[in-house]
Amino acid sequence: VKSPNIYNMNLWETSGHAANYKENMFLFEIEKQEFGLKPMNCPGHCLMFQHRVRSYRELPLRLADFGVLHRNEASGALTGLTRVRRFQQDDAHIFCRESQIKEEVKGVLDFIDYCYTVFGFTYELKLSTRPEKYLGDLATWERAEAALTEALNESGKEWQINEGDGAFYGPKIDISVSDALGRKFQCATLQLDFQLPDRFKLEYSAEDEAKRERPVMIHRAILGSVERMFAILLEHYKGKWPFWLSPRQAIVCPVSEKSQDYARKVQEWIHEAGYHVDIDLTDRKIQKKVREAQLAQFNYILVVGEEEAKTDAVSVRVRDKNDHSSMSIEGLLQHFKDETEAFH
Ligand SMILES: [Zn+2]
Repeated sequence: VKSPNIYNMNLWETSGHAANYKENMFLFEIEKQEFGLKPMNCPGHCLMFQHRVRSYRELPLRLADFGVLHRNEASGALTGLTRVRRFQQDDAHIFCRESQIKEEVKGVLDFIDYCYTVFGFTYELKLSTRPEKYLGDLATWERAEAALTEALNESGKEWQINEGDGAFYGPKIDISVSDALGRKFQCATLQLDFQLPDRFKLEYSAEDEAKRERPVMIHRAILGSVERMFAILLEHYKGKWPFWLSPRQAIVCPVSEKSQDYARKVQEWIHEAGYHVDIDLTDRKIQKKVREAQLAQFNYILVVGEEEAKTDAVSVRVRDKNDHSSMSIEGLLQHFKDETEAFH
């Protein structure tokens, strides 16, 4: 889904953000009413759940929102990509029945494992349980914690318990990732919430039509702030992006002016196949061009001369390797496809 960026303050009153989060929000007036830029998607998603009568048959209802959030951080706290006032979040909210918590949480843990394995991160899992001050009834908490425990056990991963460290509105699973430099970060979110469904009076009709039940809400993000994740990945990969994620996948370097037309054609073929491809049309020596492309960490440096033009080929240098080989354009594009599919 794509939810709005601006909401009337009434919504933030209902969600509790007006009381607890106002100093972190950008606020302004429209027609004498106060509005706020959203710092989180949850209240908007509650409205979406609420806009018509829901049945138990629709659950679990998963709303994913890869949108923009604004948080008014103090200017002194802002740093590079890691602490910003406007960022993207790969956010989602799952509305489910209590009996569905375990399966949904397992699904999120699977998703996290899939993504973090692709990035080459290792990570640790911790279950944070009921704090002294909590909202909702004790039995619900206990059932929810039991469901999270089972989900963690069935994930096959090791995990630890953080007794009493849950939020007052629900238990959560903390995921801390370690990058190639051994540093730890919190990126993903997996948080149960009994409070927001209560504040918004969310309900669905159960098997017995007359009976209304309140859904549980699961907040989940895998990357967290996309900007911050990219800062972490940049250092994790030490600037050498894997091909599938690289902003500099390939560059075409003609050996002389005579090969420029062919070089442009090669660039166009690769571009049309859906890859990032640059071209170096300066009149410098080929060794200079290649050296500069190597320093810029291009994954593939494609040298073309008259010989290559005759056969629709390129001379390929792979980043961090000294040798080079000749490939047909067709073979190169197939290789790019294979590399992307394998997340190399
Ligand atoms: Zn949320």
